[in-house]
Amino acid sequence: MKELNGFDHHLVSNGYHRINLLNQASPLLQLKSLSKELDTPIFIKRDDLTELGTGGNKLRKLEYLLAEAKNQQANRVITIGARQSNHARLTAIAGKTQGFEVDLVLKNSVPLDTESYQLNGNLVLDNIVDANIHEIPNDGTANAFISNLTKHYETEGEKVYFIPVGGSNIVGGLGYARATFEIEAQAAALGVNFQHIALASGSGGTHGGVIAGYEIQNKKVFIQAYNVQPDREPILTETKLITEGILDIFNLEEEKSKIEYRLCNDYVGEAYGIPNEQTLATIKHLAKTEGVFLDPVYTGKAFTGLVNDIKLGKYPKGEPILFIHTGGTAGLFAYSNWF
Ligand SMILES: *Cc1c(COP(=O)(O)O)cnc(C)c1O
Repeated sequence: MKELNGFDHHLVSNGYHRINLLNQASPLLQLKSLSKELDTPIFIKRDDLTELGTGGNKLRKLEYLLAEAKNQQANRVITIGARQSNHARLTAIAGKTQGFEVDLVLKNSVPLDTESYQLNGNLVLDNIVDANIHEIPNDGTANAFISNLTKHYETEGEKVYFIPVGGSNIVGGLGYARATFEIEAQAAALGVNFQHIALASGSGGTHGGVIAGYEIQNKKVFIQAYNVQPDREPILTETKLITEGILDIFNLEEEKSKIEYRLCNDYVGEAYGIPNEQTLATIKHLAKTEGVFLDPVYTGKAFTGLVNDIKLGKYPKGEPILFIHTGGTAGLFAYSNWF
């Protein structure tokens, strides 16, 4: 299937709907200075510039997730994340613009107690749109907390729609399967053929969706994800579940066994949410050479991995590579004391 129309129609006829949060393609450009430096054409898909709520990859997932919430006649959306979750911020903002009440359950999972981490960055935007924020400890009680919160609202006659961490499930992953059509249209317009794509992974939805999208388009692409979670297996499992779930919707069961999942754990650093010196150096370098700001939690680590792997010869010399910039700009301000 090569046409976006066909993709959209197939989903609608199978009961998967989408609301329109994004009205324009995000920019796809070459990083000229870096391409010269590494002697390889490197392009960037600026999903950090998607048009709502200071941008980010979660908006593509929310197009499908919030459509499902509407179809279920929910009035309230609950989601969960780390205190500086970009996903929580975009759920709050997109949710509000679509008329939902929004509750964010924010786990204290990153051991940073600076004022900027606790109050700045995404939190400022969460508060501007009046999301209900619930701070909880990182002790495994999140599910119980969410179930109690849901019951509380339901006894008041409300209808709650829950979005899992990162918006990563089969429905959310559809957003990134769809994004591969946007990428291919832009690549064609630029006269480039991407056979290598690199991206950050944190909960598997972006990675799983991109893999599924290229399977649906029947194009062989080497997709390299750089994990930001020290624990690799659960992310790999989730990624497969999402890819396979989407392939099922498109009746591509026989493709499943052929897929290679590439999830690299070499650039995680010491923990989720903690950048290391390399991460910070990468952020500074891209900002100074290209004017592009990566974030310290996801894209700073993934881009470090990409550049290092190019230097190690893991990507074929001279072939164009696309890095998907998944966002996190607002989160950068929570790390003000690191720069
Ligand atoms: C959530 C997020 C990711 C990871 O995407 P997943 O689909 O959760 O793997 C990458 N980059 C940024 C900036 C994010 O906010």
